[in-house]
Amino acid sequence: MVSGQGVETQNLAYQNSGHQFLRDGAAVELANGSVNGFDSVSPNQQLLPLTAQVNSEGHLEIGGCDVVDLVQQFGSPLYILDEDTLRAACRQYRQAFERYYPGAAQVLYASKAWSCLAVCAIVAREGLGVDVVSGGEIFTTLEAGVDPQGIYFHGNNKSRDELQFAIESGCKIVVDNWHELKLLVGLAGEKRDGVHPISILIRLTPGIECHTHEYIRTGHLDSKFGFDPNQLDDVFTSVSQQPGLACIGLHAHIGSQIFELQPHNDLGSVMVQWLCKATQYGLPIKELNIGGGLGIRYTESDDPPSIDEWVRVVAESVRVACEEQQIPLPKLLCEPGRSLIGPACVTAYTIGSRKVVPDIRTYLTVDGGMSDNPRPITYQSLYRAVVANRMNAPMTELVAIAGKHCESGDILIKEASLPITEPGDILVVMATGAYNYSMSSNYNRVPRPAAVLVKEGDANIILQRETYQDLVRQDRLPERLK
Ligand SMILES: *Cc1c(COP(=O)(O)O)cnc(C)c1O
Repeated sequence: MVSGQGVETQNLAYQNSGHQFLRDGAAVELANGSVNGFDSVSPNQQLLPLTAQVNSEGHLEIGGCDVVDLVQQFGSPLYILDEDTLRAACRQYRQAFERYYPGAAQVLYASKAWSCLAVCAIVAREGLGVDVVSGGEIFTTLEAGVDPQGIYFHGNNKSRDELQFAIESGCKIVVDNWHELKLLVGLAGEKRDGVHPISILIRLTPGIECHTHEYIRTGHLDSKFGFDPNQLDDVFTSVSQQPGLACIGLHAHIGSQIFELQPHNDLGSVMVQWLCKATQYGLPIKELNIGGGLGIRYTESDDPPSIDEWVRVVAESVRVACEEQQIPLPKLLCEPGRSLIGPACVTAYTIGSRKVVPDIRTYLTVDGGMSDNPRPITYQSLYRAVVANRMNAPMTELVAIAGKHCESGDILIKEASLPITEPGDILVVMATGAYNYSMSSNYNRVPRPAAVLVKEGDANIILQRETYQDLVRQDRLPERLK
């Protein structure tokens, strides 16, 4: 049951209403007409975006926009992305590195969490680079105007064409395996300029366990990603013999939605050991990329460390290990995805049918589901919701929020605590910025939702709602079937 546990609210009378999900102090700021000064609030510890408020009509407001009005204007389902929250998260990462790491540092946005032009453009304006995992993500990032110097290309089966595209665009390549290394040696040999070697980083599997969903654990040795550190000598020997490749860095990523700090603390010192070894092979390593993985709050019981705490642990672990080894500090990179974009977005749906199964459960169905948010059906992920037009109403009902797709498993929330609702009410599922739009599909030929970017009362479309025409755009009807 949602009880407001662990979430302090300004006004106890609202504790069992949608108000319980607002950030501490939001009500006070509303009264003062001020919503600035987010620096001390880590977005990944909040359920709602930092600008979320309840307005005088009892409606949820995000980025100064009434969510009910947004749905009226743009339809539903609707992804609503709060620019201030995304920017605050970017800034907190950057400022924490300035505070805790005496060497150079660079934060990359793991764009697989949500890749589109507007998101890439915002993170780049906040000084972040971008991590990409496919030709399509490279293309999107370049189209957004991001400097290719700050684009890092990941993936465990990059094609020759994708590699060529990345190299010609000036991106850096994070090499995952022997097959890819061979492809790169071939491509380096073909390079016409012949002068500039291809900048690569080597991805290693650190063998660090962390307690997260099995599907998203990537750091343990039984993983499809990265070189086995037992082959470190072979990899370094091989790379050091390739004049066409400049190995400028080492990379590791241990998993996602991680709430513990210890794994990243351990990773920092393991990576510095690898760095020392690489130096023995004469590799020109300047960068250590420690990956992403900081978790976010999806429910009241989720208690991730703040961005500031995470960076402090990572920075100190690398700094201390370098001091012990008496080596200069490398440039330290990290590549968060979820903790940057996840808390900045909510999805608004319109509530439709209600089915009461006596003594068992009540199903409320919304106008989207697994096609716009496949995480619950894929990972049994938990979400929380509020009703945007009933933020002051007491949450007196426990219901299941069902999607509209033809799968019994298409349930967005198994047990949602909500006020009594009617068809047409606006349900808002929180913390949907990461791995929702980017994993969305057209299952049941449902068009993908629109996305709006909200800031200080303005709302701009950043993704058009797909049309039925879009759905058949790539379809072809052979002559004999016409
Ligand atoms: C997915 C991924 C990330 C981002 O992970 P988050 O948990 O979203 O921060 C970073 N680096 C690599 C290599 C990844 O695969």
